[in-house]
Amino acid sequence: MPRANSSESKAWDLIPTRPTLSSVKTAATGCRACDLWKKGTQTVFGEGSRRANVLFVGEQPGNEEDLKGKPFVGPAGRLFDNAMEAAGIDRKQTYVTNVVKHFKWEPRGKRRIHKKPNSTEIAACRPWLETEIALVKPQVIVALGATAAQALLGPQFRVTKQRGEFIPSTLAPYVMATVHPSSILRAPDDETRQLELRRFIDDLKKLARVIK
Ligand code: SF4
Repeated sequence: MPRANSSESKAWDLIPTRPTLSSVKTAATGCRACDLWKKGTQTVFGEGSRRANVLFVGEQPGNEEDLKGKPFVGPAGRLFDNAMEAAGIDRKQTYVTNVVKHFKWEPRGKRRIHKKPNSTEIAACRPWLETEIALVKPQVIVALGATAAQALLGPQFRVTKQRGEFIPSTLAPYVMATVHPSSILRAPDDETRQLELRRFIDDLKKLARVIK
């Protein structure tokens, strides 16, 4: 497996010599390469088609994903599904994953509130993401949100300035960044939410034209 741009994370030692998506997913269940395994219920590995021509990368699993052990199945995942349908992209033909595979959270009353992963945690988890990319070999990687975009395109990258652009990369022929669906859900009012949803669908439509 390639180790370009990755840390010396202990997670590399867990990756099978001849990896498949299934064997890597199984190996990731026992990952202790950073402390986030203590917080999350389980490793939430990526999911989707082995032959996907587009691979979406979010930040980390949310509360519902953590409990179900599946990526993009919470409220943001449902918005994502609807936006994909509106853009004419079949989610079954894609692969979805996160930069970090365990849910990082802090308590607020009885709720578990999302906490942004730090650079050490992102670097520790990088081998899993690099292996997923190497196995799927997507035509386009789509970073959802700033954490994923900066992990894939560098710390200087700004989603606000460069969203929707197709950027050549060593990871895939193109990397594109847009917002994370959860940011649309957090919009301050319904009008803003609808506007942001339309912009998100427009980005996905651009993607649909490239991968067809
Ligand atoms: S977040 Fe990633 S590196 Fe950290 S324990 Fe979980 S799978 Fe391993």
